[in-house]
Amino acid sequence: MRLFLPCPTCAKDSDGTAYGLPFSESNIYSFRCHRGHEITVGLVAVRFEVLFEIGMQALVDGYYREAVMTFSTALERFYEFYVRLIWEARGIDAATRKDLWGQVAKQSERQLGLFAATFLLDTGQMPPLLPQTMVSLRNDLVHKGDITDQASATTFGQVVADLVHPALHEAVGKHKEAAATMHRQHCENVLAAHGRRPADFAWWAEAFPVSRVRADKDPINVAAEVQRRVRRDRGEKPQPI
Ligand SMILES: [Zn+2]
Repeated sequence: MRLFLPCPTCAKDSDGTAYGLPFSESNIYSFRCHRGHEITVGLVAVRFEVLFEIGMQALVDGYYREAVMTFSTALERFYEFYVRLIWEARGIDAATRKDLWGQVAKQSERQLGLFAATFLLDTGQMPPLLPQTMVSLRNDLVHKGDITDQASATTFGQVVADLVHPALHEAVGKHKEAAATMHRQHCENVLAAHGRRPADFAWWAEAFPVSRVRADKDPINVAAEVQRRVRRDRGEKPQPI
């Protein structure tokens, strides 16, 4: 599994070369392009977006069990993102956020409850939760060692995308200022964790499929996206999706 990045310096007269790097905990990727540019790229995407992308790659590569578990983790991290966005929008102070998240951080069921209550209060609507059939699919992988198949893993990914996309779209549209603050803080945190801003540094802001909310595009069709990538990996001519 790799994150494919272009060289930002060469991209101006792009030869289409992309460099595959292992996914990094820090969101920072350093590499040397084939023309010799020493590049450090900061990934703008937040954790749930990166995890969803890893799930997509697992699906493309035929690791269906891993895809389901990673999509599930992506959804959990989306729930955290949503809660933090609403906290930002409501001006909840940093100490209270830290205290409350500390109470739920180690138990996903508590996080789910916090998300569900937060979503209901902010929108007046039923929160987007995994249907029981999908919960069972995931739990049987984790607790019974089920292996699953392509169709089930693709469905699971689509269900997660369909839960995340409308909720994300609505929340970011409604809380624009809070979303902009979170975006800025995320970038500051990425750089702070790196220690200093490297000399040849560029942000890579291209949205992964699940977060196309920024470009207001249609939500992802997981099966079509997988097919597109499989064809691309075989070197076939790209098809519109
Ligand atoms: Zn270059």
